[in-house]
This record gives sequence, structure tokens and C-alpha cells, in this order.
Amino acid sequence: MTSKKDVILPGATLGVMGGGQLGRMFVHAAQAMGYRTAVLDADATSPAGLVSHEHIQTAYLDEAGLAKLAQVSAAITTEFENVPAQALDKLAETRPVAPAGSAVAICQDRAREKAHFVGCGVDCAPHALIETPEQLAAVPDDLLPGILKTARLGYDGKGQIRVKTRAELIAGWDELKRVGCVLEKMLPLAYEVSVLVARGRDGQVVHFPLQQNLHRDGILAVTTVPAPNVTEAVSQQAYASAHKIAASMNYVGVLCIEFFVLADGRIVANEMAPRPHNSGHHTIDACDVSQFELQVRAMTGLPLVEPVLHSPCLMLNLLGDLWFPGVADDGATEQQEPDWAAVLALSGTHLHLYGKTEARKARKMGHLTVTGATPAAAREVALKAAAILGIEPF
Ligand code: ATP
Ligand code: MG
Repeated sequence: MTSKKDVILPGATLGVMGGGQLGRMFVHAAQAMGYRTAVLDADATSPAGLVSHEHIQTAYLDEAGLAKLAQVSAAITTEFENVPAQALDKLAETRPVAPAGSAVAICQDRAREKAHFVGCGVDCAPHALIETPEQLAAVPDDLLPGILKTARLGYDGKGQIRVKTRAELIAGWDELKRVGCVLEKMLPLAYEVSVLVARGRDGQVVHFPLQQNLHRDGILAVTTVPAPNVTEAVSQQAYASAHKIAASMNYVGVLCIEFFVLADGRIVANEMAPRPHNSGHHTIDACDVSQFELQVRAMTGLPLVEPVLHSPCLMLNLLGDLWFPGVADDGATEQQEPDWAAVLALSGTHLHLYGKTEARKARKMGHLTVTGATPAAAREVALKAAAILGIEPF
């Protein structure tokens, strides 16, 4: 156990690198527990910056910004995996940082991430690293059709091209500016799940019940918990894999692992995120402790508890598209606020908006969690809310 004197208690200031919606929900959780917060993000209107006690408006590698964050914070975390690992290393010279730059560095690079999975005995999709024309030429035929993904800086399906033939692969690599890529074999997915774990400084690991995730155009659209399709064998394997992956990085904080479940029942790890995850947003309203509270607890040395799902639920992502009803392309007409009153008239709906004033196609503006007495009841209300908002049924 962490000794009492190592615990950072409420009243202290917690720092977070990145000012997006994940940072905003972290700030909300920290403040609810009585902490002060400091956000480092260059954007003056960043979702987390807007609600934090302090907002340091500099780039992630700005020396003065990092020094200020370290000076005001008792401990520091990150909400964005593309924060340069060296910025976290710099902060760690003077303050506890969770997760560590070394763990974030693995998650930032698809090739290292896959090597880490394999090292933990966890299967991932057959793949090849493409950094040179020679490696491109040497790609085995059986990886096609596949998905070419940039090794770094991809998210929400960005930096990915689906390729069926060798000619498309060659053109695809050109289109991605010949940066380091991973070509992954296209797998026949039965469904997708993710597991969120939190690991403390003392090595204790807890996990949330598995989530089932529906993606549309490479972006998470709907999360359902309990996961309707999973078998006991799949969930036990996913939990065991996630615990192992976290422990072997000596990880401290919240970590999400995304898995594919294949038609034959096998599970393979897709990718991981060194922070709370979009597929865990339901934990705010449907669990007795949220992923953001566990992020606070892990970084401060407070006890972790095994989270309990108290309500079956679905989480719907609210993308910017919803602000432009009936318009195929963004920007064509004036943005129009969705009918929140109609959605909130449905019982069990919990609206979360991230404070982004400009809606853009595919931009995550907020999410709606729907809790119910039973999975079927939650689903029925979620489908009604989706119809009001113009979200395709699921
Ligand atoms: P994010 O970071 O938002 O989760 P990303 O841009 O990093 O997404 P991935 O998770 O790699 O993207 O892929 C997005 C989605 O594309 C997956 O959730 C899955 O639906 C589909 N996909 C990705 N890789 C494969 C694959 N090898 N076979 C089949 N489908 C895939
Ligand atoms: Mg993903």
C-alpha cells in the first residue's frame, strides 16, 4: 500500500497536460473532490482550460509553461496521448507524473504498442512496419486487403487508408507522405470491445466492466454496457490481458485497451490509450466511481476501488454533424442547436457538452449517456434520443 504520507490530499493542485474534453471531465472530477486544477494547453478556449482554476496557455514543449505547471501542481497527468513524452519526462524531474512518459511513448507509436502487446502474450492483428520503400515492397500478399495507419499521431480514423491491392497500398503510402506506417490486415470483426483499467502506484489494478463499441467511419458512435455480445470467456481474457499490459509498463493511471472480437471468437488487441477514453464516458453516470475519479485517485495515491456498474447504459457520441441537420457537407448552412429539451424530456438521459462553440463535421461536441433499469429499457430510450438528434439507429 501507498503510505499515508505519500497521498496528495484535496486542497492541492492537480495539473493536466492537454485541454480537451477528457481534461475537462478530469477537472470536473478533481474539483468535485476538492482539488484545485491547472491545465496546460495553448488554446485560450480549450474545453478544460475554460473550467480550470488555472490555465497555462503555452505549447506542450514550452519550457516556461512546463516550469509553471510543475511549480503550481502537486502531481501531473495527461489527457492526450500525443503530448510529447519528453514534456512528461521534464515534468517528472520535479513532480510525480502519472502515467509516465515512458508508458505514453509506447502508446504513441503503433509499432511499439503492438510489440508491447505481443511481449505480453496478447494477440494483435497481423501487420508489417513500413518505413522504407524496401519494406513497402516486401509486404506479404496476405496482409491485403488491409488498413494502412500512420504509426504516430492518428486518432478518430485520421491517418488511415483502407487498401485492397498493392497499387492502392503504394498510392496510400504516398498520400500519407511516406511517414512511418503500420499496415494491418483487415480482420472480420464480429464486434468491438474495450477495457478500462486503473493502476495505482502500489501496483493495485481495478477495471470497469467491459464496454461494447460501435464505430462509424472510424469514430466511436455508440458504447453499450453491459456489452450485449460478450461471452464470459471473452471478458475474462480481455480483463487478464489488460491487467498484464498495464502491469508490464509499470503503469500508473487510467489505461484503455481496445479489442476486436473476431467471428471465430478470438480476441485481438487493437490499440491502447494512456488516459481515460471516450468509451468510458458512461462511467460518470452509470458507475459508482468514474474513470476520471479513478484518474485522480491513481495520481494522488488515494485508494482505488473496483468500480461497480449500477445502471445498464448506452453512450451516444454527439458529433458536430448533428448541428447541421439535413446537410451532407459541413459549413453549408448556419449551425443550429440540437433539440436538447426534447432529449432531456426522456428519463435517464444525461447530457454532457464540452463547451466547444464551433460545431464541425466529425468533431466531438459532447455525449449523451442513457441509463435505464434494464439494458432493453436503456436501449429503447437511447434509440428515441437518437431519432430526435438525427443519429442513425444502431
Ligand atoms: P481512435 O484513436 O479514435 O480509437 P484510431 O484513429 O486510432 O481511433 P483505430 O482504433 O486504429 O483508429 O481504428 C478505428 C476503427 O477502424 C476500429 O475501431 C475498427 O472499427 C476499424 N479497424 C481498425 N483496424 C482494423 C482492422 N485491422 N480490421 C478491421 N477493422 C479495423
Ligand atoms: Mg481506436
